[in-house]
Amino acid sequence: MSGEFHPPARILMGPGPSNVDPRVLMAMAKPLVGHLDPEFFKIMSSLQDLLRYIFSTKNVQTLPISGTGSAGMEAAFVNVVEPGDRVLVCVNGVFGERMADVAERCGANLRTLSAPWGKAFDLAAVEKELRNFQPKVLAIVHAETSTGVLQPLEEFPKILKNHPDTLLLVDAVTSLGGHPVKVDEWGVDICYSGTQKCLSCPPGLAPITFSQKAMEKTKGRAKKVQSLYLDMIMLGKYWGSERTYHHTAPISMNYALLEALRIVSEEGLERRYERHRRNHLALVAGIEAMGLSMFAEKSYRLWSLNTVSIPAGIDDAKVRKTLLEEYNLEIGGGLGNLKGKIWRVGLMGHSSSETNVLYFLTALEQTLRAQGFEVPRGAGATAAKEFYSRK
Ligand SMILES: *Cc1c(COP(=O)(O)O)cnc(C)c1O
Repeated sequence: MSGEFHPPARILMGPGPSNVDPRVLMAMAKPLVGHLDPEFFKIMSSLQDLLRYIFSTKNVQTLPISGTGSAGMEAAFVNVVEPGDRVLVCVNGVFGERMADVAERCGANLRTLSAPWGKAFDLAAVEKELRNFQPKVLAIVHAETSTGVLQPLEEFPKILKNHPDTLLLVDAVTSLGGHPVKVDEWGVDICYSGTQKCLSCPPGLAPITFSQKAMEKTKGRAKKVQSLYLDMIMLGKYWGSERTYHHTAPISMNYALLEALRIVSEEGLERRYERHRRNHLALVAGIEAMGLSMFAEKSYRLWSLNTVSIPAGIDDAKVRKTLLEEYNLEIGGGLGNLKGKIWRVGLMGHSSSETNVLYFLTALEQTLRAQGFEVPRGAGATAAKEFYSRK
């Protein structure tokens, strides 16, 4: 390969990465400074302030982990779970399963609570398991990207008030920046996310926040955190006032995240959530008008990740291939048990737009028609258009 490299400019409507505002790409092309340069320290402080705003928290220990969302997940568990600690993980999809795997690797005394894929957890079931098992950590996914389900967390402080020693650990990878995530109000002790979903930044960093209580558990460990790279105490010395070298921060990724977060704050969280909600509802109106149905239970649907059941007789892989090759459009297939059964359509951050909704519905209609699936002509886009004009 020689000459300049030109990747295609795809429309990214899968489970992430989402499309990135050109301002974010430009930020990555800016000159490097050193990771101990006073100018970089200013960038770090701004980043932390913006992350606190988006997580709705006052937690001092709020920073981007160098690594993708999975590194955020590892950092969350590896710091607070000591061998033998009781850990309760709620599993209703692939990312809950992954949390359980990570907890097990930390030597946890693991118990899982399951709910059907496509449904959220019932508060009473979680409370019962909390009482029976008295875990040190309760872990749950806020936005299950494998099923399209949003787990309401508003009521969690109620069930946790009788368990002052339990830490609430939440995966907000697909919700942060698209759905409200209220770390302090919901009593979340550890919350992590990723940059390439609703924050619309390339993959590479994992915003994370630890409460005072979570930091106390980390500091009170009998043995050091087994991961040097993800040790929150050491990271806190670099991201806190000491500014001690820990690892070379990925400078350009941090520039990108700063710009992405500035875009979020310019839009304002409430307006941003409303945009995500509206585009999701328009998409659902279009999907249903085409005679298709949504997979996730109606009252618990994510705005950022829409799961559509694949109709009988339709070739999943062929549809996605056609969308990519003929329409330059990426959507996701099902993961785990849901492979071949659902499509995952992301409306995250920059990708959550009216034009994307209309374009996707039109492209899907053409693609399904080519496979012999009867769709009233223009039904999906018409229904979405009507939805937008009503509101
Ligand atoms: C994407 C995702 C992850 C993993 O993030 P990577 O950036 O792929 O490492 C974890 N949890 C959830 C809910 C996700 O959607």
